Amino acid sequence: MTEPGRISRRPPSDGAGLTDPAPTNYEVVIGLEVHAQLSTKSKMFCGCTTKFGAPPNAQTCPVCQGMPGVLPVINRRAVEFGIRTALAFNCRVNPSCRFARKHYYYPDMPKNYQISQYEEPLAEDGFLEIEAEGGSRNIGIQRLHLEEDVGKLLHEGTLETAQSSLVDFNRSGVPLLEIVSEPDMRSVAEAGAYLRTLRSIIQYLEICDGNLEEGSFRCDANVSVMPKGSTKLGQRVELKNINSFRFVQKAIDYEIGRQVELIESGGKVAMETRLFDAVRGETRSMRSKEEAHDYRYFPEPDLPPLRIPAGYVERIERDLPELPRAKLQRFSSTYALPAYDAKILVGDRALADLFEKVQAVYKGPAKKLSNWFLGELLRLMKEEGTAVGALRFSPTQFASLLEMVDAGELSNNAAKDVFAEMFRTGRSPREIAQEKGLIQVQDTGAVEAAVDAVLAANPGEVEKYRSGKKQVLGFLVGQVMKAMKGKGNPALVNAALKAKLGD
Ligand SMILES: [Zn+2]
Repeated sequence: MTEPGRISRRPPSDGAGLTDPAPTNYEVVIGLEVHAQLSTKSKMFCGCTTKFGAPPNAQTCPVCQGMPGVLPVINRRAVEFGIRTALAFNCRVNPSCRFARKHYYYPDMPKNYQISQYEEPLAEDGFLEIEAEGGSRNIGIQRLHLEEDVGKLLHEGTLETAQSSLVDFNRSGVPLLEIVSEPDMRSVAEAGAYLRTLRSIIQYLEICDGNLEEGSFRCDANVSVMPKGSTKLGQRVELKNINSFRFVQKAIDYEIGRQVELIESGGKVAMETRLFDAVRGETRSMRSKEEAHDYRYFPEPDLPPLRIPAGYVERIERDLPELPRAKLQRFSSTYALPAYDAKILVGDRALADLFEKVQAVYKGPAKKLSNWFLGELLRLMKEEGTAVGALRFSPTQFASLLEMVDAGELSNNAAKDVFAEMFRTGRSPREIAQEKGLIQVQDTGAVEAAVDAVLAANPGEVEKYRSGKKQVLGFLVGQVMKAMKGKGNPALVNAALKAKLGD
């Protein structure tokens, strides 16, 4: 949840100018708080499973139902995931941290407090490098802390019309990692770039599936505006629980416009929490914003301070996977791919892994394979809604298809047909090509016979060619291809024609 407003300790980096078209006399200041639901098997402080989609209240125990007298136990895996993330964001992992009770009332939280971290978080002071319009830029990460999720209210009908509400505690106690940025972003585009980069990294780290729809990756935005050149931050407004990248940008955009209009007309921006209404495309006041002291934080008496054992952080650091930035550089250098190609491939770890598996077998030009990935593969995946993990063909089959093209056995267009079938069925490309009769004739004897027949049938054209009208060759190639029903290998046909014409 929300932490006390702290002004960035680092100065905003250069090139932080306003990029949004609307309020030219104002500078926009954005800070983002991301809640990532950790992919641990059990909950933060009890052994209940975290599986998604179970019947309501099927995954609960006295601890996550908030019964009196129960004792929480810290999930070791959640701590490990938190440290993994902290290292990827260049944070300092504190040798000791502490859990705290954060008090507020909500019907889906029977304890009336949430176990979170406050003054002594797991990790602090990092940064995330993003690519925005002006090049790359570091966005400060203020802190990373662990906490438990609350339950879920299900309203019968809409919130306004519901006669009753039901509560499901399956989500109660699920581990969350809150990642709080510094208010370093200066445009909607930067906020979008930050979120996408952050999500890609936590997916690479395999600590969270990054699924916005299922709520395992949630975002709150703190937005304020200040007159250009000013160093005093404007009053910030918190935008809550926005569940898609598109909505984050729309919500912030709307909020910037609203604040500027308010200030321009002599009004004052109030400290409050607002909800984004995706249907109307506007933000609405939800409640006046509480200050940190309203939560009456105090150290969780049922949990001792968490001391990180010596060598533990280093061990996790050694096992960190290759992260997107490093992979991007490696894809550009090892495979000599253009930045655009590398960026798309690396954007999805599973896609990048598949690319490397196919390339290891294929050994032809990587750019050629990349064209197939960016073209046919991604197009079909999008059309059929298929994830990389659900693809039916093997890397070897993909490589064989490309090798058939390289050997002149398949034309590019025929290969696309074969690929579509292979994508749907997982059958071998050679088998599909043979069945569809798409294999080009490699037999030089057959090509020469067709060439002889065409030359004999077109003496006039042959005469023209020999007298210097070389453009006739195209016509003759066409005739041979036609005679061979499109299955002649164009390179072979060309060579045979030229040889016979005495060129
Ligand atoms: Zn439980």
